[in-house]
Amino acid sequence: MPLATSREVLLKARAEGYAVGAFNLNNMEMAQAIVQAATELNSPVIVQASQGAIKYAGLEMITAMARVLADGAPVPVVLHLDHGTDYKQNVKCLRAGFTSLMFDGHDLPLEQNIAMTANIVDIAHSVGLPVEAEIGSVLTIENLLTDAEMAEIRALEIPKQFEILRKKIGRTVEEHIAKPEEAKRFVDETGVDFLAAAVGSVHGLWLDIWPLRIDRLKEIFEATQIPIVSHGSSGVLIDQSHAIEKGVELLPGEGSLKDAIKVGYTKINVATALSMEFNRAMLEAAGKRPGEKDPRKLLGPARDAVVAKTKEYIRLFESDGKGGSPAASGSTGSLGGGTVARGEE
Ligand SMILES: [Zn+2]
Repeated sequence: MPLATSREVLLKARAEGYAVGAFNLNNMEMAQAIVQAATELNSPVIVQASQGAIKYAGLEMITAMARVLADGAPVPVVLHLDHGTDYKQNVKCLRAGFTSLMFDGHDLPLEQNIAMTANIVDIAHSVGLPVEAEIGSVLTIENLLTDAEMAEIRALEIPKQFEILRKKIGRTVEEHIAKPEEAKRFVDETGVDFLAAAVGSVHGLWLDIWPLRIDRLKEIFEATQIPIVSHGSSGVLIDQSHAIEKGVELLPGEGSLKDAIKVGYTKINVATALSMEFNRAMLEAAGKRPGEKDPRKLLGPARDAVVAKTKEYIRLFESDGKGGSPAASGSTGSLGGGTVARGEE
């Protein structure tokens, strides 16, 4: 079917109490894997491109890939701009055929973020496109820790990793969490469709380890009544039952991703986890086949691994079975339109 807009997909999800994954693509194999996973589980899906991915692959290439995959898929597929930090990037994506935009002005003073977001919302709404915007600050791990510090932490046992992360970055994250009254004003004055409101997650974290401020998320959703977007989801504690094993001691008001879906999280961005899985499987294949001449022998297994990983997230978000059509039977050739003949040389 043609590309869907995020509005139709997310409002349905909110009304029915599940969330939709927004998965970042970096190349053809990842895009195929994401749509294949959604097709196999009969789930709506959002593929999203960062400005970096657009620079790498080209705007027309990204749009064309998403359109071809959507056209061949029996489930709704949305193409979203992730972290569009400038006005022109949003306009270019609108013109190219994206079906969902994001203006990320969280670095700007609130007044300016409101003014810029309202401007983009005005343009996007005039052609029926929804817009996501960001308030508060979802921090990025690379800005909080050096590469050497991260490598050192990651070499430790998981509970120890959490203890150090809590000590080193916990307070910094707390200072950047969105405030409900600001969120309400922002939504009222911009007319934005979805809000990325920082509630404690960190971009680029790993390992299902980091708790969210569920109390704050609940207040923000109650104040704004629009779907809330999760950024930095790859490292978030998935389920409270994992807390002990991860060494996570929840403080009052904190909870997991599953708790967050119940109180407002509706679009959940996943980038780091899929990229890491792609690289892991590609390097594993390269290790098994030294001197391999055919890139498909390395990229194919990476694509398969991303299908499996994406399916884990779709099940977690409970959007499986919500694709509005009977589940595709079997997995072979489920990338519609015969775009990929699996197993063929
Ligand atoms: Zn983000």
